[in-house]
Amino acid sequence: MPESSSQLLAGGGGHFIRQIVAEDVRAGRFGGAVRTRFPPEPNGYLHIGHAKAIWLDFSMAQEFGGVCHLRMDDTNPVTEDEEYIEAIREDVRWLGYDWGPHFYYASDYFERMYECACELIRRDLAYVCDLSAEEWKEYRGVPTRPGRESPFRRRSVQENLDLFARMRSGEFPDGARVLRAKIDMASPNIHLRDPVLYRILHARHPHTADAWCLYPTYDFAHCLEDSFEGITHSFCTLEFEVHRPLYDWILEALGLHHPRQIEFARLNMTYTVMSKRRLLELVREKRVRGWDDPRLPTLRGLRRRGVTPEAIRTFCETVGVTKFNSLTDVALLEHAIREDLNRRAPRAMGVLEPLKLVIENYPEGHEEYFEALNNPEDPSAGTRPVPFSRELFIERDDFLENPPPNYYRLAPGREVRLRYAGLVTCTGIAKDPAGSICEIRGQWDPASRGGISPDGRKVKGTIHWVSARHAIPAEFRLYDRLFLREDMTDVPEGRDWRDFLNPESERIVQGWVEPSLAAAVSGSRYQLERIGYFAVDPDTQSGRLVFNRTVTLKDSWKKAAASRSPA
Ligand code: ATP
Ligand code: MG
Repeated sequence: MPESSSQLLAGGGGHFIRQIVAEDVRAGRFGGAVRTRFPPEPNGYLHIGHAKAIWLDFSMAQEFGGVCHLRMDDTNPVTEDEEYIEAIREDVRWLGYDWGPHFYYASDYFERMYECACELIRRDLAYVCDLSAEEWKEYRGVPTRPGRESPFRRRSVQENLDLFARMRSGEFPDGARVLRAKIDMASPNIHLRDPVLYRILHARHPHTADAWCLYPTYDFAHCLEDSFEGITHSFCTLEFEVHRPLYDWILEALGLHHPRQIEFARLNMTYTVMSKRRLLELVREKRVRGWDDPRLPTLRGLRRRGVTPEAIRTFCETVGVTKFNSLTDVALLEHAIREDLNRRAPRAMGVLEPLKLVIENYPEGHEEYFEALNNPEDPSAGTRPVPFSRELFIERDDFLENPPPNYYRLAPGREVRLRYAGLVTCTGIAKDPAGSICEIRGQWDPASRGGISPDGRKVKGTIHWVSARHAIPAEFRLYDRLFLREDMTDVPEGRDWRDFLNPESERIVQGWVEPSLAAAVSGSRYQLERIGYFAVDPDTQSGRLVFNRTVTLKDSWKKAAASRSPA
């Protein structure tokens, strides 16, 4: 079960990290300063889970008058790529955050980190170990039973310094030796059983090239990066809670500035995957159009879909920060998107799956313009003229030949309101030889011109339309959930996560939009009346408009929230 309802209640004002930081500032810890960091590993594009971390890191710094660093945590040369670095910078900026002069590479600290490792050796707190990875598994033991000490644990400081220097100089092949912290082989916390600090890796690094064949592990590097930069509060996801004793041990052993690490629950969302590895596989296997596919939870995907940074930030604030892993209902994100777009998106009319309606009593070759509201939520947005003529396109599912009684749209003999134009009654149907409806005919009431009811008669249904002669052709890409399974963090044993891909996550239809959208530029957003919010896709070229549906208009979150709140 998604726990987003309780998150909604817990979110907002006083999440626990805000309280901790506020208390530290009040107590004058770190001199009252707040310095945070967002430390992505440049091995993929950012997703909405990262947005939560970015929002937390930057908003805490902002709120408490501090600064937030953007740091490439580039300690693993094998999976990292220059391509991702610029993309990450761009995405953080797009989200609305500014790191000022504080952009760093962890790899710029390699020399200092190496020095720190030598210092640990000199203090007899680290040693070079020749056990293979296989052997080490054996020695390390399991949490319930103490491990055994490595036979290399008693090497002299001198020998360790010598071997470590030779590891650096490239004398040994990958995997031949590692540097370990000398902590406690009986610790119930497996991460304290002489963890690896350095490993040999003859790999070219995107930033330091061939300068190193010795790379620090995450655990050794991360606390040092935070310390070197004078970070005060280091936020990370819950899985690092068990690493915190090691974070603390290293900084204490070296007597360095000691930031406070605080863990929070990562964001998981229903019907999607959030790990960079899986996202990469979806892209590599061409199951989506690319990193910016609008179905992906990547920031690029969300942006292409039409989601604004404001909606994402509001979503993060609403979800809040907790200590418990849970699954956030994607409907909550969609709710934030609708609230945001409702305020800012101009309205227009478009028809996704067209059916021609001929107004028999409207003169051929004649046209007139009706005033349409650009945004009922924002009177200052004004109005625009929408052309009307004898032949219109309406939505195919706004007509039924044999409607049930509670159907208020068009049907033989029934009357509906054409938004902004007037009242029309269906007077006939034309079918193609195969028997499917290809055109309907109607009569309009000229006294209803502009959409008024002339004699106060009740007309329940209102439908949208475009004038066939004036309409611009458009492609609509309609998205549904990428996965059919609600909880993708918990795929059953023996099943491949790809088995749950929704084969109908993208549906493409060719329709029409009103002529005011002729010059719509890539990235602009509209509400197409009655059918949803749409963003103009970058694939748009002159003469070919492509729209991505950002979200439909129906808000399942709002409804669910209303039924949850006490009457
Ligand atoms: P992934 O699991 O997608 O590979 P990662 O943790 O390896 O993510 P990093 O580049 O190391 O990716 O992440 C940078 C920061 O973003 C880290 O502080 C990490 O804790 C945080 N982060 C990553 N995923 C999430 C998430 N789903 N929710 C909140 N924070 C996240
Ligand atoms: Mg990581």
